[in-house]
Amino acid sequence: MKLLAARLHHLELPLVSPFTTSFMTQTHKRCFLVEMELETTDGTVVTGWGENVALDRPFYSPEHLDGSAEVVARWLVPELVAAGEITAETVHHHLRRVIGNPMAKASVEMAVLDAQLRSEGKSFASYLGAVSSAVPSGVSVGIQDSVAQTVRVVGGYIDEGYARIKLKIQPGADIEHVAAVRREFGDELLFQVDANAAYTLVDAAHLRRLDEYGLLLIEQPLGEADLRQHAELAKQMSTPICLDESIDSAETAADAISLGSAAVINIKPGRVGGYLEARRIHDIARAHGIAVWCGGMLETGIGRAANAALAALPGFTLPGDISGSDRFYALDITTEPIRMHDGVVDVPAGPGFGIEVDPDRVAEFRTALVEIQL
Ligand SMILES: [Mg+2]
Repeated sequence: MKLLAARLHHLELPLVSPFTTSFMTQTHKRCFLVEMELETTDGTVVTGWGENVALDRPFYSPEHLDGSAEVVARWLVPELVAAGEITAETVHHHLRRVIGNPMAKASVEMAVLDAQLRSEGKSFASYLGAVSSAVPSGVSVGIQDSVAQTVRVVGGYIDEGYARIKLKIQPGADIEHVAAVRREFGDELLFQVDANAAYTLVDAAHLRRLDEYGLLLIEQPLGEADLRQHAELAKQMSTPICLDESIDSAETAADAISLGSAAVINIKPGRVGGYLEARRIHDIARAHGIAVWCGGMLETGIGRAANAALAALPGFTLPGDISGSDRFYALDITTEPIRMHDGVVDVPAGPGFGIEVDPDRVAEFRTALVEIQL
């Protein structure tokens, strides 16, 4: 395929409720969509959509939204133009001169992948090798102001039917909240926590107190670069340790597995540079008996649909953060929002990512439209 046009749609969507993690509170989702027109070898012009998941502040990872948009427009798209003939499978190779910026690269690869699959009439799920048509839907619960409020919010999601609860924690909002949720909802609840790197190894004795609550896992307790320290913490507590921020490629996943830093890996396609790298991490983890699940970055319907397909691979043995679109948005930018029903989200079966972007909704939430000069 040959790239004919590329544009960035900058969006700002209001969240249905503020979302607080150990590093920031979000009331709106700012992101950009990558729309690409490509010409196939038989002369057909096909459109593909990608979504960039960088946060507007560099508090989760070094990448941030405005920087990511500049990298796409100024460095990545020109590399694809210079390459001439491209496929989704060669995008990563063509972008190799640009260091880092995995979320920028992922959004570009997504647009090419969506266009390629649409031109072939193939769904993303079948392309990946998905083995199920629906995936269990977990929900990520932000840090609340009080223990009572945590119990109330968690109870609301359990009533909605979510299959698994993940609670964000930080020093000062951890043990008591976890204890209260376990006490209120019982031992059967699939329950895990996410610290977003808010602790250090000095906190090991404190974190060990979580062991008595039967958590599925604790996600990223320590810093992004702390692979060795995570391996040390794993020796000191029985709750399985899951890495998120630390895993930015198949290579770091392999290192974490061999060091004993991760019993579980949260795979976020944006964080690792795209869905094809995400599948490589799945393959490595599965070969080593390491469970994986699909994390979330408050995606719109595009990324949410793609995540559902990824999570239908056989190694995704734990429920992911693939909630219904309405967990974050009153209105989404796809014609059919992703819905949770009976604790699952259906894997889209249509061509490409299997969703249709709603141009009116995109226009409604758009703050800027950038046509990239090729
Ligand atoms: Mg996380």
